[in-house]
Amino acid sequence: MNRIIEKYRRFMYNRNGIDRLCVFLLIAGMLVKGTGSFIPVLGVRIGFSAAAALIIAFAVYRALSKNLYRRQYEEDRFNSFMKKLNLPLLAQRIRAGLRHLTLRLKQIRTHRFRTCPACGEFLRLSMKRGKRSLTCPRCGKHFTVRIIF
Ligand SMILES: [Zn+2]
Repeated sequence: MNRIIEKYRRFMYNRNGIDRLCVFLLIAGMLVKGTGSFIPVLGVRIGFSAAAALIIAFAVYRALSKNLYRRQYEEDRFNSFMKKLNLPLLAQRIRAGLRHLTLRLKQIRTHRFRTCPACGEFLRLSMKRGKRSLTCPRCGKHFTVRIIF
């Protein structure tokens, strides 16, 4: 067993190894492959498989690559992209959006909803039609809303 690990270590010496971008590519490749398997059109399914194979091949190529400088550059670009994307914040926004949508649907007969233009607070209003001025309970901003129907 130790000899296998030692062989592996010697083989991977001076190679990039599995970094975050590799893991991301492997997962993305499997997701593309999995999504493709649900598509009933053969040509499209083959396209998805080919794309998945390319993505996974690139992940393996990166892990085995000896061009550490280039691989580190890709890894840095990937990390700064993920930082900009801010996945936890994105997930939080999607959850809030879904919660607001269910609230809107549940109370569609009795209430209307608006967001504060200053702070983005989600506000529940009575259904009274017409123009009306409001004060945001969170930030105190005065603004008018128009409820048409
Ligand atoms: Zn506000």
